[in-house]
Amino acid sequence: MSDKYDVIVIGAGPGGYVAAIKAAQLGLKTACVESWSSSDGKSQVLGGTCLNVGCIPSKALLEISHKFEEASHDYEMQGIIAKDVKIDVTKMMERKSGIVKQLTGGIAGLFKANGVTSIHGHGKLMANRQVEVTDSDGKTKTYEAENVIIATGSKPIEIPPAPMTEGYIVDSEGALEFDEVPKRLGIIGAGVIGLELGSVWARLGSEVTVLEAQDTFLPAVDQQIAKDALKQFRKQGLNIVMGGRVTGAEVKRKLVNVSYEDGKGKQELKVDKLIVAVGRRPFTDNLLAADSGVNMDERGFIFVDEKCKTEAPGVWAVGDVVRGPMLAHKASEEGVMVAERIAGQKPQVNYDCIPNVIYTSPEVAWVGKTEEQLKTEGEAYKVGTFPFAANGRAMAANAASGMVKIIADEKTDRILGFHVVGPQASEIVAQGVIAMEFGSSAEDLALTCFAHPTLSESVHEAALAVNGGAIHIA
Ligand code: FAD
Repeated sequence: MSDKYDVIVIGAGPGGYVAAIKAAQLGLKTACVESWSSSDGKSQVLGGTCLNVGCIPSKALLEISHKFEEASHDYEMQGIIAKDVKIDVTKMMERKSGIVKQLTGGIAGLFKANGVTSIHGHGKLMANRQVEVTDSDGKTKTYEAENVIIATGSKPIEIPPAPMTEGYIVDSEGALEFDEVPKRLGIIGAGVIGLELGSVWARLGSEVTVLEAQDTFLPAVDQQIAKDALKQFRKQGLNIVMGGRVTGAEVKRKLVNVSYEDGKGKQELKVDKLIVAVGRRPFTDNLLAADSGVNMDERGFIFVDEKCKTEAPGVWAVGDVVRGPMLAHKASEEGVMVAERIAGQKPQVNYDCIPNVIYTSPEVAWVGKTEEQLKTEGEAYKVGTFPFAANGRAMAANAASGMVKIIADEKTDRILGFHVVGPQASEIVAQGVIAMEFGSSAEDLALTCFAHPTLSESVHEAALAVNGGAIHIA
Protein backbone atom coordinates (compact mmCIF):
# COMPACT_ATOMS: atom_id res chain seq x y z
CA MET A 1 0.00 0.00 0.00
CA SER A 2 1.29 3.50 -0.85
CA ASP A 3 2.38 5.79 1.97
CA LYS A 4 0.04 8.56 0.86
CA TYR A 5 -3.26 8.92 2.69
CA ASP A 6 -6.35 11.11 2.52
CA VAL A 7 -6.18 11.41 6.32
CA ILE A 8 -3.48 10.70 8.88
CA VAL A 9 -4.53 10.96 12.52
CA ILE A 10 -1.83 11.37 15.18
CA GLY A 11 -3.03 9.85 18.46
CA ALA A 12 -5.55 7.06 19.06
CA GLY A 13 -7.46 8.35 22.10
CA PRO A 14 -11.22 9.07 21.90
CA GLY A 15 -10.52 12.10 19.70
CA GLY A 16 -8.16 10.35 17.29
CA TYR A 17 -9.56 6.84 17.01
CA VAL A 18 -13.11 8.10 16.53
CA ALA A 19 -11.94 10.58 13.85
CA ALA A 20 -10.03 7.77 12.08
CA ILE A 21 -12.99 5.39 12.07
CA LYS A 22 -15.40 8.10 10.88
CA ALA A 23 -13.00 9.21 8.12
CA ALA A 24 -12.63 5.60 6.91
CA GLN A 25 -16.41 5.11 7.02
CA LEU A 26 -16.73 8.14 4.76
CA GLY A 27 -14.51 6.47 2.18
CA LEU A 28 -11.25 8.28 2.97
CA LYS A 29 -7.99 6.33 2.96
CA THR A 30 -7.01 6.71 6.61
CA ALA A 31 -4.08 5.88 8.88
CA CYS A 32 -3.74 6.44 12.64
CA VAL A 33 -0.34 6.84 14.30
CA GLU A 34 -0.13 5.88 17.97
CA SER A 35 3.00 5.64 20.12
CA TRP A 36 1.55 3.91 23.22
CA SER A 37 3.16 0.48 23.72
CA SER A 38 2.38 -2.53 25.90
CA SER A 39 4.57 -2.91 29.00
CA ASP A 40 6.94 -5.27 27.11
CA GLY A 41 7.21 -2.62 24.38
CA LYS A 42 6.24 -5.12 21.70
CA SER A 43 2.72 -4.17 20.75
CA GLN A 44 0.75 -1.02 20.18
CA VAL A 45 -1.98 0.02 22.62
CA LEU A 46 -4.93 2.02 21.31
CA GLY A 47 -7.52 4.07 23.24
CA GLY A 48 -5.34 6.82 24.72
CA THR A 49 -5.70 8.23 28.21
CA CYS A 50 -9.42 7.54 28.37
CA LEU A 51 -9.32 3.80 27.90
CA ASN A 52 -5.94 3.03 29.45
CA VAL A 53 -5.46 5.35 32.43
CA GLY A 54 -8.52 7.62 32.55
CA CYS A 55 -12.28 7.29 32.19
CA ILE A 56 -12.55 3.51 31.98
CA PRO A 57 -10.15 2.24 34.68
CA SER A 58 -11.31 4.96 37.08
CA LYS A 59 -14.95 4.03 36.51
CA ALA A 60 -14.15 0.34 36.98
CA LEU A 61 -12.62 1.13 40.38
CA LEU A 62 -15.46 3.51 41.27
CA GLU A 63 -18.06 0.82 40.49
CA ILE A 64 -16.24 -1.87 42.49
CA SER A 65 -15.54 0.38 45.48
CA HIS A 66 -19.16 1.58 45.47
CA LYS A 67 -20.38 -2.01 45.66
CA PHE A 68 -17.91 -2.73 48.47
CA GLU A 69 -19.03 0.29 50.44
CA GLU A 70 -22.71 -0.58 50.03
CA ALA A 71 -22.11 -4.16 51.10
CA SER A 72 -20.05 -2.99 54.10
CA HIS A 73 -22.29 -0.23 55.39
CA ASP A 74 -25.69 -0.04 53.73
CA TYR A 75 -26.84 -3.64 53.42
CA GLU A 76 -27.68 -4.32 57.06
CA MET A 77 -30.37 -1.63 57.34
CA GLN A 78 -31.98 -3.14 54.24
CA GLY A 79 -32.09 -6.57 55.82
CA ILE A 80 -29.20 -8.03 53.84
CA ILE A 81 -26.69 -9.92 55.95
CA ALA A 82 -23.21 -9.72 54.44
CA LYS A 83 -20.73 -10.31 57.22
CA ASP A 84 -16.97 -9.62 57.09
CA VAL A 85 -17.02 -8.05 53.65
CA LYS A 86 -13.42 -7.76 52.42
CA ILE A 87 -11.72 -6.28 49.41
CA ASP A 88 -9.11 -8.19 47.41
CA VAL A 89 -7.16 -5.35 45.79
CA THR A 90 -5.24 -7.65 43.45
CA LYS A 91 -8.45 -9.13 42.07
CA MET A 92 -10.04 -5.68 41.81
CA MET A 93 -7.07 -4.48 39.75
CA GLU A 94 -7.19 -7.60 37.57
CA ARG A 95 -10.83 -6.90 36.78
CA LYS A 96 -10.02 -3.26 35.96
CA SER A 97 -7.17 -4.33 33.66
CA GLY A 98 -9.39 -6.94 32.00
CA ILE A 99 -11.99 -4.30 31.12
CA VAL A 100 -9.28 -2.00 29.74
CA LYS A 101 -7.79 -4.82 27.66
CA GLN A 102 -11.15 -5.79 26.23
CA LEU A 103 -11.93 -2.22 25.19
CA THR A 104 -8.52 -1.32 23.76
CA GLY A 105 -8.52 -4.61 21.82
CA GLY A 106 -11.98 -3.66 20.57
CA ILE A 107 -10.57 -0.54 18.93
CA ALA A 108 -7.97 -2.59 17.10
CA GLY A 109 -10.88 -4.70 15.81
CA LEU A 110 -12.82 -1.58 14.75
CA PHE A 111 -9.77 -0.24 12.89
CA LYS A 112 -9.50 -3.52 11.02
CA ALA A 113 -13.20 -3.70 10.24
CA ASN A 114 -13.24 -0.14 8.91
CA GLY A 115 -9.97 -0.35 7.00
CA VAL A 116 -7.99 2.11 9.15
CA THR A 117 -4.22 1.48 8.88
CA SER A 118 -2.66 1.50 12.33
CA ILE A 119 0.93 2.75 12.49
CA HIS A 120 2.92 2.12 15.69
CA GLY A 121 5.34 4.91 16.58
CA HIS A 122 5.79 8.55 17.52
CA GLY A 123 4.37 10.94 14.92
CA LYS A 124 5.84 14.33 14.13
CA LEU A 125 4.17 16.81 11.83
CA MET A 126 6.52 18.24 9.22
CA ALA A 127 5.85 20.90 6.56
CA ASN A 128 3.21 20.20 3.88
CA ARG A 129 1.27 17.60 5.88
CA GLN A 130 4.08 15.09 5.99
CA VAL A 131 4.16 12.92 9.10
CA GLU A 132 7.45 11.43 10.22
CA VAL A 133 6.97 8.32 12.36
CA THR A 134 9.73 7.01 14.62
CA ASP A 135 9.28 3.40 15.78
CA SER A 136 10.53 1.85 19.02
CA ASP A 137 13.85 0.91 17.38
CA GLY A 138 14.41 4.55 16.42
CA LYS A 139 13.75 3.95 12.71
CA THR A 140 11.88 6.72 10.93
CA LYS A 141 9.52 6.65 7.98
CA THR A 142 7.66 9.56 6.40
CA TYR A 143 4.04 9.45 5.29
CA GLU A 144 2.05 12.04 3.36
CA ALA A 145 -1.57 13.09 3.68
CA GLU A 146 -4.11 15.48 2.21
CA ASN A 147 -5.29 16.10 5.78
CA VAL A 148 -3.69 15.56 9.18
CA ILE A 149 -5.68 15.42 12.42
CA ILE A 150 -3.67 16.00 15.58
CA ALA A 151 -5.23 14.25 18.61
CA THR A 152 -2.28 13.87 20.98
CA GLY A 153 -4.22 14.54 24.18
CA SER A 154 -2.88 15.66 27.51
CA LYS A 155 -0.64 14.67 30.42
CA PRO A 156 -0.94 15.33 34.18
CA ILE A 157 0.54 18.63 35.42
CA GLU A 158 3.39 18.23 37.92
CA ILE A 159 4.04 20.81 40.61
CA PRO A 160 7.45 21.61 42.13
CA PRO A 161 6.36 21.30 45.80
CA ALA A 162 5.30 17.69 45.26
CA PRO A 163 7.70 15.95 42.84
CA MET A 164 6.68 12.47 41.64
CA THR A 165 8.31 9.83 43.87
CA GLU A 166 7.66 6.25 42.84
CA GLY A 167 5.32 4.43 45.17
CA TYR A 168 4.66 7.50 47.32
CA ILE A 169 3.86 10.67 45.38
CA VAL A 170 1.95 9.73 42.25
CA ASP A 171 -0.30 11.20 39.56
CA SER A 172 -3.74 9.89 38.53
CA GLU A 173 -2.11 7.04 36.62
CA GLY A 174 -0.25 5.83 39.71
CA ALA A 175 -3.41 6.16 41.80
CA LEU A 176 -5.13 3.59 39.58
CA GLU A 177 -2.37 1.06 40.35
CA PHE A 178 -2.07 0.92 44.17
CA ASP A 179 -1.52 -2.67 45.27
CA GLU A 180 -3.07 -2.14 48.70
CA VAL A 181 -5.44 0.32 50.34
CA PRO A 182 -3.32 3.16 51.78
CA LYS A 183 -4.13 3.77 55.44
CA ARG A 184 -3.85 7.53 54.99
CA LEU A 185 -4.12 9.12 51.57
CA GLY A 186 -3.47 12.74 50.66
CA ILE A 187 -4.76 14.30 47.45
CA ILE A 188 -3.71 17.66 46.04
CA GLY A 189 -6.61 19.09 44.07
CA ALA A 190 -10.38 18.83 44.69
CA GLY A 191 -11.22 18.71 40.97
CA VAL A 192 -13.00 15.92 39.13
CA ILE A 193 -10.04 13.52 39.12
CA GLY A 194 -9.03 14.18 42.74
CA LEU A 195 -12.57 13.67 44.00
CA GLU A 196 -13.14 10.50 41.98
CA LEU A 197 -9.86 8.89 43.03
CA GLY A 198 -10.34 10.06 46.62
CA SER A 199 -13.78 8.42 46.61
CA VAL A 200 -12.39 5.09 45.36
CA TRP A 201 -9.83 4.77 48.13
CA ALA A 202 -12.00 6.30 50.88
CA ARG A 203 -14.72 3.72 50.15
CA LEU A 204 -12.13 0.97 50.49
CA GLY A 205 -11.06 2.27 53.89
CA SER A 206 -8.40 5.01 53.42
CA GLU A 207 -8.51 8.10 55.58
CA VAL A 208 -8.55 10.67 52.79
CA THR A 209 -7.53 14.34 53.02
CA VAL A 210 -8.02 16.49 49.93
CA LEU A 211 -6.08 19.76 49.84
CA GLU A 212 -7.54 22.38 47.53
CA ALA A 213 -5.79 25.72 47.05
CA GLN A 214 -8.91 27.59 45.95
CA ASP A 215 -11.52 28.82 48.42
CA THR A 216 -14.49 27.90 46.25
CA PHE A 217 -15.39 24.22 45.94
CA LEU A 218 -15.89 23.15 42.29
CA PRO A 219 -16.04 26.72 40.93
CA ALA A 220 -17.28 25.58 37.49
CA VAL A 221 -20.30 23.89 39.05
CA ASP A 222 -23.53 25.69 39.97
CA GLN A 223 -22.80 26.66 43.57
CA GLN A 224 -26.10 25.39 45.02
CA ILE A 225 -25.21 21.98 43.59
CA ALA A 226 -21.52 22.22 44.61
CA LYS A 227 -22.42 23.12 48.21
CA ASP A 228 -24.83 20.20 48.45
CA ALA A 229 -22.15 17.86 47.05
CA LEU A 230 -19.49 19.17 49.46
CA LYS A 231 -21.79 18.60 52.42
CA GLN A 232 -22.40 15.02 51.33
CA PHE A 233 -18.73 14.27 50.61
CA ARG A 234 -17.76 15.57 54.05
CA LYS A 235 -20.53 13.51 55.66
CA GLN A 236 -19.00 10.43 54.00
CA GLY A 237 -15.71 11.20 55.74
CA LEU A 238 -13.70 12.88 52.96
CA ASN A 239 -11.66 15.55 54.71
CA ILE A 240 -11.72 18.35 52.13
CA VAL A 241 -9.53 21.32 53.10
CA MET A 242 -10.41 24.44 51.12
CA GLY A 243 -7.81 27.19 50.76
CA GLY A 244 -5.07 24.62 51.52
CA ARG A 245 -1.99 25.53 49.47
CA VAL A 246 0.71 22.83 49.40
CA THR A 247 4.22 24.19 49.95
CA GLY A 248 6.21 20.97 50.06
CA ALA A 249 6.12 17.18 50.20
CA GLU A 250 8.91 14.77 51.05
CA VAL A 251 9.17 11.07 51.69
CA LYS A 252 10.68 10.14 55.06
CA ARG A 253 10.58 6.74 56.75
CA LYS A 254 8.02 5.37 54.30
CA LEU A 255 5.64 8.28 54.88
CA VAL A 256 4.91 11.40 52.85
CA ASN A 257 5.16 14.57 54.93
CA VAL A 258 3.06 17.24 53.28
CA SER A 259 3.37 20.89 54.29
CA TYR A 260 0.60 23.28 53.43
CA GLU A 261 -0.81 26.63 54.44
CA ASP A 262 -4.44 27.36 55.01
CA GLY A 263 -6.38 30.21 56.64
CA LYS A 264 -5.03 29.14 60.05
CA GLY A 265 -1.35 29.19 59.01
CA LYS A 266 1.26 26.46 58.39
CA GLN A 267 0.03 22.88 58.60
CA GLU A 268 1.56 19.40 58.33
CA LEU A 269 -0.04 16.22 57.06
CA LYS A 270 1.45 12.72 57.19
CA VAL A 271 0.13 10.24 54.65
CA ASP A 272 1.13 6.86 53.22
CA LYS A 273 0.55 8.03 49.67
CA LEU A 274 -0.03 11.36 47.99
CA ILE A 275 -1.88 11.84 44.70
CA VAL A 276 -1.19 15.00 42.70
CA ALA A 277 -4.36 15.83 40.75
CA VAL A 278 -4.01 19.50 39.90
CA GLY A 279 -5.03 19.32 36.25
CA ARG A 280 -3.66 18.29 32.88
CA ARG A 281 -1.63 20.03 30.18
CA PRO A 282 -1.91 19.64 26.41
CA PHE A 283 0.63 17.09 25.14
CA THR A 284 2.67 18.34 22.20
CA ASP A 285 6.18 17.10 23.08
CA ASN A 286 8.30 16.65 19.93
CA LEU A 287 5.12 16.87 17.84
CA LEU A 288 5.64 19.86 15.56
CA ALA A 289 8.57 20.60 13.25
CA ALA A 290 9.49 24.29 13.24
CA ASP A 291 8.03 24.68 9.73
CA SER A 292 4.83 22.66 10.31
CA GLY A 293 2.79 25.87 10.24
CA VAL A 294 0.83 24.88 13.37
CA ASN A 295 0.87 27.30 16.31
CA MET A 296 -0.03 27.07 19.96
CA ASP A 297 -1.90 29.53 22.14
CA GLU A 298 -0.40 31.15 25.25
CA ARG A 299 -1.34 28.12 27.40
CA GLY A 300 0.27 25.56 25.08
CA PHE A 301 -2.95 24.35 23.44
CA ILE A 302 -2.80 23.92 19.66
CA PHE A 303 -4.50 26.96 18.21
CA VAL A 304 -7.70 26.09 16.31
CA ASP A 305 -10.85 27.86 15.20
CA GLU A 306 -14.36 26.67 16.13
CA LYS A 307 -14.16 24.04 13.35
CA CYS A 308 -10.89 22.65 14.80
CA LYS A 309 -8.79 23.99 11.89
CA THR A 310 -5.22 24.94 12.75
CA GLU A 311 -3.37 27.72 10.97
CA ALA A 312 -1.73 25.22 8.58
CA PRO A 313 -3.93 24.33 5.58
CA GLY A 314 -5.28 20.76 5.84
CA VAL A 315 -4.15 20.34 9.44
CA TRP A 316 -6.78 19.95 12.16
CA ALA A 317 -6.57 19.33 15.90
CA VAL A 318 -9.13 17.86 18.32
CA GLY A 319 -9.58 16.79 21.93
CA ASP A 320 -7.55 17.63 25.02
CA VAL A 321 -4.77 19.19 22.94
CA VAL A 322 -7.08 22.10 21.96
CA ARG A 323 -9.20 24.61 23.91
CA GLY A 324 -12.40 23.54 25.67
CA PRO A 325 -13.19 21.00 28.37
CA MET A 326 -10.84 18.01 28.66
CA LEU A 327 -13.51 15.36 28.18
CA ALA A 328 -13.54 12.17 26.13
CA HIS A 329 -16.95 12.83 24.55
CA LYS A 330 -15.93 16.38 23.57
CA ALA A 331 -12.82 14.91 21.90
CA SER A 332 -14.91 12.35 20.02
CA GLU A 333 -17.49 14.93 18.88
CA GLU A 334 -14.68 17.07 17.50
CA GLY A 335 -13.14 14.02 15.81
CA VAL A 336 -16.40 13.22 14.02
CA MET A 337 -16.91 16.86 13.02
CA VAL A 338 -13.44 17.09 11.49
CA ALA A 339 -13.73 13.79 9.59
CA GLU A 340 -17.08 14.90 8.17
CA ARG A 341 -15.71 18.33 7.23
CA ILE A 342 -12.80 16.68 5.41
CA ALA A 343 -15.39 14.62 3.53
CA GLY A 344 -17.13 17.83 2.46
CA GLN A 345 -19.96 17.93 4.99
CA LYS A 346 -20.71 20.96 7.22
CA PRO A 347 -21.28 19.70 10.78
CA GLN A 348 -20.61 21.75 13.92
CA VAL A 349 -20.05 20.91 17.57
CA ASN A 350 -22.55 22.58 19.88
CA TYR A 351 -20.15 23.55 22.66
CA ASP A 352 -23.09 24.82 24.76
CA CYS A 353 -24.47 21.31 25.08
CA ILE A 354 -21.49 19.28 26.32
CA PRO A 355 -22.33 17.45 29.54
CA ASN A 356 -19.91 17.32 32.47
CA VAL A 357 -19.93 14.57 35.08
CA ILE A 358 -18.16 13.87 38.36
CA TYR A 359 -18.57 10.16 39.09
CA THR A 360 -18.54 10.42 42.86
CA SER A 361 -21.36 9.28 45.10
CA PRO A 362 -23.56 11.22 44.82
CA GLU A 363 -22.68 11.94 41.20
CA VAL A 364 -22.61 15.53 40.02
CA ALA A 365 -23.60 16.30 36.42
CA TRP A 366 -24.53 19.36 34.48
CA VAL A 367 -24.96 20.94 31.08
CA GLY A 368 -25.34 24.58 30.16
CA LYS A 369 -25.13 27.65 32.35
CA THR A 370 -24.88 27.95 36.12
CA GLU A 371 -26.74 30.59 38.11
CA GLU A 372 -23.42 32.32 38.77
CA GLN A 373 -22.66 32.57 35.02
CA LEU A 374 -26.11 33.93 34.24
CA LYS A 375 -25.81 36.55 36.99
CA THR A 376 -22.43 37.66 35.61
CA GLU A 377 -23.91 37.85 32.11
CA GLY A 378 -26.90 39.84 33.42
CA GLU A 379 -29.42 37.32 32.04
CA ALA A 380 -32.88 37.14 33.64
CA TYR A 381 -33.70 33.55 34.60
CA LYS A 382 -35.99 31.39 36.72
CA VAL A 383 -35.13 28.22 38.62
CA GLY A 384 -36.91 24.99 39.50
CA THR A 385 -35.42 22.42 41.88
CA PHE A 386 -36.64 19.07 43.14
CA PRO A 387 -34.96 17.01 45.88
CA PHE A 388 -34.40 13.27 45.55
CA ALA A 389 -35.58 13.06 49.19
CA ALA A 390 -39.11 13.38 47.76
CA ASN A 391 -38.57 10.77 45.03
CA GLY A 392 -39.88 7.27 45.80
CA ARG A 393 -37.41 5.43 43.56
CA ALA A 394 -34.44 7.23 45.13
CA MET A 395 -35.75 6.25 48.57
CA ALA A 396 -36.18 2.63 47.48
CA ALA A 397 -32.59 2.70 46.20
CA ASN A 398 -31.34 4.14 49.52
CA ALA A 399 -29.97 7.11 47.57
CA ALA A 400 -32.39 9.90 48.42
CA SER A 401 -29.95 12.79 48.58
CA GLY A 402 -29.29 15.66 46.22
CA MET A 403 -31.53 17.38 43.69
CA VAL A 404 -32.32 18.23 40.09
CA LYS A 405 -32.10 21.92 39.24
CA ILE A 406 -33.34 23.43 35.98
CA ILE A 407 -32.64 27.01 34.99
CA ALA A 408 -34.75 28.61 32.26
CA ASP A 409 -34.86 31.97 30.53
CA GLU A 410 -37.17 34.30 32.46
CA LYS A 411 -39.09 35.38 29.35
CA THR A 412 -38.88 32.55 26.80
CA ASP A 413 -38.76 29.63 29.30
CA ARG A 414 -35.97 28.07 27.18
CA ILE A 415 -33.75 25.79 29.29
CA LEU A 416 -30.36 27.42 29.90
CA GLY A 417 -28.88 25.06 32.47
CA PHE A 418 -29.56 21.59 33.82
CA HIS A 419 -27.83 20.46 37.01
CA VAL A 420 -27.99 17.27 39.05
CA VAL A 421 -26.38 16.10 42.27
CA GLY A 422 -27.61 12.68 43.25
CA PRO A 423 -28.02 9.06 42.17
CA GLN A 424 -27.25 8.34 38.51
CA ALA A 425 -26.78 12.01 37.73
CA SER A 426 -24.50 10.91 34.85
CA GLU A 427 -27.47 9.21 33.16
CA ILE A 428 -30.11 11.78 34.14
CA VAL A 429 -28.10 14.67 32.65
CA ALA A 430 -28.60 13.20 29.16
CA GLN A 431 -32.23 14.31 29.40
CA GLY A 432 -31.06 17.88 29.89
CA VAL A 433 -28.61 17.59 27.00
CA ILE A 434 -31.34 16.33 24.64
CA ALA A 435 -33.79 18.99 25.84
CA MET A 436 -31.24 21.74 25.31
CA GLU A 437 -30.13 20.39 21.90
CA PHE A 438 -33.79 20.55 20.82
CA GLY A 439 -34.15 24.07 22.26
CA SER A 440 -36.82 22.90 24.72
CA SER A 441 -38.55 25.09 27.23
CA ALA A 442 -39.05 24.02 30.85
CA GLU A 443 -42.72 23.66 29.95
CA ASP A 444 -41.84 21.12 27.22
CA LEU A 445 -40.32 18.89 29.90
CA ALA A 446 -43.17 19.63 32.29
CA LEU A 447 -45.70 18.48 29.63
CA THR A 448 -43.80 15.20 29.06
CA CYS A 449 -44.95 11.95 30.70
CA PHE A 450 -42.25 10.26 32.81
CA ALA A 451 -42.45 6.63 34.00
CA HIS A 452 -43.20 6.02 37.67
CA PRO A 453 -41.33 5.29 39.84
CA THR A 454 -38.08 6.59 38.33
CA LEU A 455 -35.31 8.95 39.35
CA SER A 456 -36.19 10.90 36.20
CA GLU A 457 -39.48 11.97 37.75
CA SER A 458 -37.31 14.48 39.61
CA VAL A 459 -36.54 16.05 36.22
CA HIS A 460 -40.27 16.32 35.56
CA GLU A 461 -40.90 17.87 38.97
CA ALA A 462 -37.98 20.32 38.65
CA ALA A 463 -39.34 21.37 35.23
CA LEU A 464 -42.79 21.85 36.77
CA ALA A 465 -41.18 23.84 39.60
CA VAL A 466 -39.61 26.30 37.13
CA ASN A 467 -43.09 27.71 36.60
CA GLY A 468 -44.25 27.08 40.14
CA GLY A 469 -46.17 23.81 39.71
CA ALA A 470 -44.25 20.90 41.32
CA ILE A 471 -46.68 18.30 42.68
CA HIS A 472 -44.75 16.29 45.25
CA ILE A 473 -43.22 19.09 47.30
CA ALA A 474 -44.92 21.65 49.48
P1 FAD B 1 -5.87 11.09 24.80
O1 FAD B 1 -6.90 10.16 25.26
O2 FAD B 1 -4.90 11.61 25.80
O3 FAD B 1 -5.11 10.33 23.64
C1 FAD B 1 -3.99 10.87 23.01
C2 FAD B 1 -3.20 9.74 22.39
O4 FAD B 1 -2.20 10.30 21.56
C3 FAD B 1 -2.46 8.89 23.41
O5 FAD B 1 -2.77 7.55 23.18
C4 FAD B 1 -0.99 9.19 23.16
O6 FAD B 1 -0.15 8.06 23.37
C5 FAD B 1 -1.00 9.55 21.70
N1 FAD B 1 0.10 10.42 21.29
C6 FAD B 1 0.49 11.58 21.86
N2 FAD B 1 1.49 12.15 21.15
C7 FAD B 1 1.72 11.31 20.11
C8 FAD B 1 2.61 11.36 19.01
N3 FAD B 1 3.42 12.41 18.81
N4 FAD B 1 2.60 10.32 18.13
C9 FAD B 1 1.74 9.27 18.29
N5 FAD B 1 0.87 9.20 19.31
C10 FAD B 1 0.85 10.20 20.19
N6 FAD B 1 -13.18 12.19 30.47
C11 FAD B 1 -14.50 11.94 30.39
O7 FAD B 1 -15.15 12.43 29.47
N7 FAD B 1 -15.12 11.16 31.32
C12 FAD B 1 -14.45 10.61 32.36
O8 FAD B 1 -15.04 9.91 33.18
C13 FAD B 1 -13.07 10.86 32.47
N8 FAD B 1 -12.35 10.34 33.49
C14 FAD B 1 -11.01 10.55 33.54
C15 FAD B 1 -10.30 9.99 34.61
C16 FAD B 1 -8.94 10.19 34.69
C17 FAD B 1 -8.18 9.56 35.84
C18 FAD B 1 -8.26 10.94 33.69
C19 FAD B 1 -6.78 11.12 33.75
C20 FAD B 1 -8.96 11.51 32.65
C21 FAD B 1 -10.35 11.33 32.57
N9 FAD B 1 -11.10 11.89 31.54
C22 FAD B 1 -12.46 11.67 31.48
C23 FAD B 1 -10.50 12.74 30.50
C24 FAD B 1 -10.30 11.92 29.20
O9 FAD B 1 -9.49 10.82 29.46
C25 FAD B 1 -9.69 12.83 28.14
O10 FAD B 1 -10.47 13.98 27.99
C26 FAD B 1 -9.61 12.09 26.80
O11 FAD B 1 -8.84 10.92 26.90
C27 FAD B 1 -9.03 13.02 25.73
O12 FAD B 1 -8.97 12.34 24.52
P2 FAD B 1 -7.89 12.71 23.42
O13 FAD B 1 -8.16 11.77 22.28
O14 FAD B 1 -7.88 14.15 23.18
O15 FAD B 1 -6.47 12.37 24.08
